[in-house]
Amino acid sequence: MNNKILANRDLAVLWHPCTQMKDHENLPMIPIKTGRGVWLEDFDGKRYLDAVSSWWVNLFGHANPIINAALKEQLDTLEHVIFAGFTHETGIKLAEKLVDITPAGLNRCFYADNGSAAVEVALKMSFHYWRNGGQTQKTKFITLENSYHGETLGALAVGNVALYKETYAPLLMDVITVPGPDCYFREVGETWAEYSTRRFTLMEQALQQHAGTVCAVIIEPLVQCAGSMRMYDPVYLKLLRQACDKYGVHLIADEIAVGFGRTGTLFACEQASISPDFLCLSKGLTGGYLPLSAVLTTDNIYQAFYADYTQLTAFLHSHSYTGNALACRAALATIGIFQQDNVINKNQRLIAKLAEVAVRFHDHPNVAEVRQTGMILAIELVKNKATREPFAWQERRGLKVYQYALAQGVLLRPLGNVIYFMPPYVITEAELELLAEVAWHGIQYALKG
Ligand SMILES: *Cc1c(COP(=O)(O)O)cnc(C)c1O
Repeated sequence: MNNKILANRDLAVLWHPCTQMKDHENLPMIPIKTGRGVWLEDFDGKRYLDAVSSWWVNLFGHANPIINAALKEQLDTLEHVIFAGFTHETGIKLAEKLVDITPAGLNRCFYADNGSAAVEVALKMSFHYWRNGGQTQKTKFITLENSYHGETLGALAVGNVALYKETYAPLLMDVITVPGPDCYFREVGETWAEYSTRRFTLMEQALQQHAGTVCAVIIEPLVQCAGSMRMYDPVYLKLLRQACDKYGVHLIADEIAVGFGRTGTLFACEQASISPDFLCLSKGLTGGYLPLSAVLTTDNIYQAFYADYTQLTAFLHSHSYTGNALACRAALATIGIFQQDNVINKNQRLIAKLAEVAVRFHDHPNVAEVRQTGMILAIELVKNKATREPFAWQERRGLKVYQYALAQGVLLRPLGNVIYFMPPYVITEAELELLAEVAWHGIQYALKG
């Protein structure tokens, strides 16, 4: 078996996510045979450094021995069971752990099976909470410009990335979109904290105006990942928490991408010392092994649904694979690694190294900004550094970086013209240097064409 044969078989029957399939007339489809640590290997024996954690899910490497062992044991015990009326020890242990490690006050855990589903659950729960309390006028959600919350219709509606959303606009519920705290747009000399604070005024205004009809504000704490890895200061979260309390609106923190150490702390909300009313988790939750998501919420919200059956206040939402035992076991093993290996502390060295390898990009004539939050580093490629004029999207400069890096054995997958590193935590300092080296030359290559 080789790459070519498998690629042809793939292209004959498969339809891949987030892909213009016609691109593959020129772009090779790469069949992966094995994964170990940060490395993937294809069927021709070529290796690739997985610098994007396989779409932000992998934390401790491919074929991690600890997670593998846990899964093998779980497989011989219980793979899955209906999660209504029935439960299992692995699912209970995971919920206990999540309640324990997430911000204070989040004492209830509802499982779903992917990130978008978790967002749908949080939106429905928030709306339903107000409805159960007789506040039927609360039907709307506030979201930030440039936000991303998934692809299902509810999640897409509260997102704001035009590329994914615009086509489906006629199908989506109306939301209130507030200009965001994205620090790429701060003035020269203005700090992240100053800019994020200044931009909060717009959120405060929206809350003041609409609170009566709004269920919740939904945000991605600190980094808008799919929105080109744009970042902002924790002060925004602090102000938002206070304002949501003041105006009687829930706060939904979508930490699907940023949770589990990506921002330097286990959860991004910790950096603002806040607890949301709903916390959505997925992606890294299972270490990148299996689809699973969780929505953590408060006793107060749980109690609003807890009544005699005939009151018709129950949350009648389900997914077939809710609480899948294998996925829960992978998550437990992943959280175990965080605790046993003191990962958050150890990552501080990688975070410093990431900043160090990024230095050379700051003065590049086509780099408008190099930004970093914890284990996420982004390089904003532009046509003109002074005016920040972007390259025309049709030129697909990022794709050229992708192609160059692949040839060099590195999997980078730029978001438009933003090149980013979001590697698994088992990457070495030498591998971070390799990443930067390949990205540097990839940028030179992309600028030529
Ligand atoms: C990826 C992502 C989602 C959607 O998760 P899926 O599992 O892909 O449905 C939602 N919110 C954020 C912030 C994400 O990055």
